[in-house]
Amino acid sequence: MSANVNIDLISKLVRPDVREMIPYQSARREQSGGSCWLNANEAGGNNAQQVNLENLNRYPDFQPTALIQAYASFAKVNTNQVLATRGADEGIEVLIRTFCESEKDNIIICPPTYGMYAISAKGHNCNVLSIPLLENLQLDLKSLTDHKDNAKIVFICSPNNPTGDVIARDDIIKTLELFKDSALVVVDEAYIEFCPEFTFASLINQYPNLVVLRTLSKAFALAGLRCGFTLANEYIIAMMSKIIAPYPISNPVAQIATTALTEQLTLMQQRVDSTIELRTQINDFLDSQPWLIKRYSSKTNYVLFNAQNALELFNALVERGVLIRNQSSQLSLENCLRVSIGSKQELVEFKQAVNDYNQSIANPPSTTSKQ
Ligand SMILES: *Cc1c(COP(=O)(O)O)cnc(C)c1O
Repeated sequence: MSANVNIDLISKLVRPDVREMIPYQSARREQSGGSCWLNANEAGGNNAQQVNLENLNRYPDFQPTALIQAYASFAKVNTNQVLATRGADEGIEVLIRTFCESEKDNIIICPPTYGMYAISAKGHNCNVLSIPLLENLQLDLKSLTDHKDNAKIVFICSPNNPTGDVIARDDIIKTLELFKDSALVVVDEAYIEFCPEFTFASLINQYPNLVVLRTLSKAFALAGLRCGFTLANEYIIAMMSKIIAPYPISNPVAQIATTALTEQLTLMQQRVDSTIELRTQINDFLDSQPWLIKRYSSKTNYVLFNAQNALELFNALVERGVLIRNQSSQLSLENCLRVSIGSKQELVEFKQAVNDYNQSIANPPSTTSKQ
């Protein structure tokens, strides 16, 4: 079917920067197969939901009222301070498209961190200023100060993916003050349900340049739904509303998300509690491994660790159907692997696969015969 497609034409027409762009390697794109998925920080098990499929001939509301009310109530903000998006990822993209001019404005990221800030910026032809976290994985306030007039948006991920711990509250406050006349400070709280006491949502009335990102993909176990939220003052929300697609939230998505945020809130809380319990187990398990160099402390549903022969371990797990995430290409995370805390059963499978690997390195299959 594609025999007559003229690749030269497409190559000539496409934006030169898009031609050169390396696409985001999401867990699902990068690794296929396997039977135990611990590579995308999803909730484990199986989350099945019911929807009413009547009236699909009608467009949904731009921002479905029941959903916005439910999220505003959950996050303790006003309804005009919430924008529902197609995952938090769309929030990132719409923020950049709303506030950054192509080929002119910069965003700041603090790596190692979530990859989509840079990808979305590049997709909009904006520059990415990288101000790495310090060795203690906290913000480099001095370098941020040096760049306080050089960016429109500063992305801070807290708890940070993939490292797992929160960014110090005082440092985020200092950053908000530092950029109060020059840039938005976006705090990505994709994992905040696992440590709700660290949220910045309660400060959006106090800091006009504060934006908080949320998602239903992690603690709410709805990654397949594609639903996230941007929390900010009503003026920021109004500007983003000009740029986002006219019907970003489909009717079935709105129904399922609203149910998750009302009738099923207790279920989410239970999931968080059991994940935290399993995290203690996985921490203990990792700490007892002969190949462990360092385990990072986590307030989330995943744990990052530095292992001797990380790639060998990673591949041995893949061979046994257990997929985790290799973070070795991230700044300062050489030989680091990230494992999501799935269900109890998935943790059993992970441990089994690791134990098998340990056996195989203790008793390597003899490959050479005596000469
Ligand atoms: C998973 C994740 C997101 C994206 O969430 P979606 O709502 O699924 O788009 C955003 N930020 C961080 C830090 C994440 O880990």
